[in-house]
Amino acid sequence: MYTPELVSSKISPSDANSVWKNCLKKIKSDVSLMTYNTWFLPIKPVAIEDSTLRIQLPSHFFWEWIDEHFNSLINKTIHDVIGPGAKLSYVIAQDADLLEGTAVESSDKIQASQINEKPKVKHNFDSHLNPRYTFNNFVMGEGNQLARAAAGAISNNPGGTSFNPFFIYGGVGLGKTHLIQAIGNEILLNFPDKKIDYLSSDMFTVEFVEAIQTNRVNYFSSFYRSMDVLIIDDIQFLIGKEKTQDLFFHIFNTLHQSRKQIILSSDKPPKNLKGMDERLISRFQWGLTADIQPPELETRIAILKKKVEIYGMRISNEILDYIAANITSNIRELEGCLIKLLANASLNSKEITFELAKKTVKEIATDKKTYNITIELITKNVCDYLGVAENKIRDKTRKKEIVLARQIAMYLSKELTKSYLKTIGLHFGGRDHSTVIHACSSIEQGKLQDKSIRELINNLTNKIELSTI
Ligand code: ADP
Ligand code: MG
Repeated sequence: MYTPELVSSKISPSDANSVWKNCLKKIKSDVSLMTYNTWFLPIKPVAIEDSTLRIQLPSHFFWEWIDEHFNSLINKTIHDVIGPGAKLSYVIAQDADLLEGTAVESSDKIQASQINEKPKVKHNFDSHLNPRYTFNNFVMGEGNQLARAAAGAISNNPGGTSFNPFFIYGGVGLGKTHLIQAIGNEILLNFPDKKIDYLSSDMFTVEFVEAIQTNRVNYFSSFYRSMDVLIIDDIQFLIGKEKTQDLFFHIFNTLHQSRKQIILSSDKPPKNLKGMDERLISRFQWGLTADIQPPELETRIAILKKKVEIYGMRISNEILDYIAANITSNIRELEGCLIKLLANASLNSKEITFELAKKTVKEIATDKKTYNITIELITKNVCDYLGVAENKIRDKTRKKEIVLARQIAMYLSKELTKSYLKTIGLHFGGRDHSTVIHACSSIEQGKLQDKSIRELINNLTNKIELSTI
């Protein structure tokens, strides 16, 4: 990030560290050890400015959970420790690199690596790398072997291998961001003086636009040309942004000619990036292109074990095997399942049992199914099932069987999709939200009083869920 003027002198990460340590002491005496380990240990202090303590949480899920369950405990604690007027602000680790990228982030990262008890990194340049992403906690498997091996080689000799650029691609949640940031973190350990910057291609575009608006395009361009290692995540987002692509092309050339390391990630291989400048596509293939494939069972188990170790939890192998066997699509989802399991256990003060694991896996599968259910899909199923024409359901007609079909479709839309009542109303001939409320309550009523309505709703729900698989 090229905004040195944002540096503020007020920020003191070491203060944040000791303030947070004092908070943890108090919190530990107020909650169970399990809750403490699960929800408080992963929190990292970032900075303290005036009376606002800034903390970093590992995910959005964590944020929601903490906010809902421990908001008053944390507030009370920071008041006790910092004094009246104490405030808290959050950063989500996954997004930290997308946030403002001010000097706060920089101190955050240096400090966070100290908390992790890793060797101190001596550099005063903000690389926007998240210290959470290391080789150490990246599990190798068949699907990422080549990418991981190349990543290691690059970290030992940035710019000096034939893997330049290093272009890594694969589906969501498979570890691209983790791996490319781990390269950056490892290079900083090996070569503390190297100038590294990590950012998403979106961020690059935003900065470029800002640079145009403030007449600083030259400065922007020379800033990135001065990097030793440039890491750009999700390069596919440059598609359709011709001016940004053009500028990136020139930066790429300068860096490559001076043997500086370029690392890129994408959701597809270079040749499939339709809409990307051909000159860039061909350059993306100059070095090494490596894909990441979804992990096979053994790797999924190993990843879960690693995460459990990181969270400091005790979960039986039987349970981990069960999760790994049932959550197969990507690593983010595996991680999500584990967190949800911990949450379910903490919420109900329950042990993590096989039963609870089964329930959690099922919840995740349902969430996923719900995700694919649309109002159109519901309408189609209801109309097919009840033998009603789809256009009739949107008409004004008050015929009894059509009214019933319409009400059922509205009810199921509310139950199975996350749509607003207003949106549901719009789908059914522009009716307003009070009509939807009325429909839902009469179906609820019908379910209570009439067995055949209950069965009808159950059958339809199953049918709709099945049609999304
Ligand atoms: P992508 O960028 O490909 O969408 P991420 O790098 O964000 O995926 O990975 C999603 C989550 O899964 C992250 O929390 C990451 O730490 C974790 N993860 C991915 N691959 C691995 C791995 N091989 N070992 C351990 N954790 C992994
Ligand atoms: Mg990513």
